[in-house]
Amino acid sequence: MTSDTNFIEFALGIKDSNLIFRGYFYKFIRLIKYRVYEFTLIYPDNVCPECHQRQLVKFGFSEVNTKFTADDASHPVILRIHKQRVRCKNCQHTQLAQSPIVQKYCHIANKVRNKVIMSLQDDRTLDCIANDNNISPSTVNRYLDQSRAIAPLIKQELPINMALDEFRGVNRQLHFICIDNDGNHKIQAILPDRYKRTIENYFLSFPLQERARVKTISMDLNSYYQEIARRLFPNAQIIIDRFHVVAMLTRAFNQYRAQVMKRFEKTSRNYRLLKFSWRLYLVSEEKLSNVNEYYDRHIRQRVTSNERVDLGLQVDERLMADYNVMQSIMTNLSHRDMDGLTDALYPSEQISPQMTIVIKTLRQNLEYVLNASQFKYSNGAMEGINRMIKQIQRTAFGFRNFDHMVYRIYYRQMAQKKNQVA
Ligand SMILES: [Zn+2]
Repeated sequence: MTSDTNFIEFALGIKDSNLIFRGYFYKFIRLIKYRVYEFTLIYPDNVCPECHQRQLVKFGFSEVNTKFTADDASHPVILRIHKQRVRCKNCQHTQLAQSPIVQKYCHIANKVRNKVIMSLQDDRTLDCIANDNNISPSTVNRYLDQSRAIAPLIKQELPINMALDEFRGVNRQLHFICIDNDGNHKIQAILPDRYKRTIENYFLSFPLQERARVKTISMDLNSYYQEIARRLFPNAQIIIDRFHVVAMLTRAFNQYRAQVMKRFEKTSRNYRLLKFSWRLYLVSEEKLSNVNEYYDRHIRQRVTSNERVDLGLQVDERLMADYNVMQSIMTNLSHRDMDGLTDALYPSEQISPQMTIVIKTLRQNLEYVLNASQFKYSNGAMEGINRMIKQIQRTAFGFRNFDHMVYRIYYRQMAQKKNQVA
């Protein structure tokens, strides 16, 4: 008997000296072939938990079926445990033996729960995890809810350097997200919406002393986060994200380029010059070649990438001016040249209306744009996290429950960190 018990302990990976192995068999339940291991669980001592008298007597057994983990989902495993019942002669209290492998009143072994919680870190659907463990999707969701304690959702501290952004989630709503812009870019908070009051209330839950520790806050330009940041974080420098500035410039440039292009016949050379190879305009000027010639089939001639850009820009004066402004801002940003950047924001040539608006916005936020060239922080890490969140939502076919989405995001981030360390 003992050697059998030892062997079963080894095979199933369970350890409980009160659990005595009795036998095994197959059983069909709703057309599924289950492997059943049968045990007796004896009551370990003789002390009544109610009155602490040593007057317990045996009082029969209760049969409990517990779902267990299986290496193969087509042959799920059940532990049929005969739990010994005892009765106190002193106070008449009856008590059922319990085992650490399964929680009281629960029909699913702790091992299954742990496995499910581990699976929640992966990029998998709820149904897939449920099927794999022979439990229902709602049980998986319940574990997700119960695992609050594991995911460090509520933080007592604010990061020294943070980044703010938003993303689309439950019901296509926008959620506010804040991350630590240092180290492993831990998510600080995800809020159910991005209303001013919600964000304020969140940050105001930290004392001023804590908020005063924040040194930089990265964000994108077209948001009202600036005002909140200025008011609530006395010592923080606001950083307008570099990539965001570049994106605004290239969008304006492309808009005007398309506008010029449409002035010409579709068969004309000018149309073709502007229509094709448009990516070259957005490449940093320093990366264009003066030497390497290639055959451009759209304009039917051999050019270097530098010549190709020039040919296109010569079509329209303002397009040329736009290009120069865009390039000079991009170069100065990447070289962290503050004086150069200030100069670039006051162009002498006439630029397109689209570019004028962008430049004006940048000038209004000059201080923060200059910060972008001064600090190493940007929203780069945030972009990565937003990509991860998108992927989780795609796998889950969207979320209906905000909490579930947030837990999955936290778990996924935890898993990714672990993989990076390993
Ligand atoms: Zn008792």
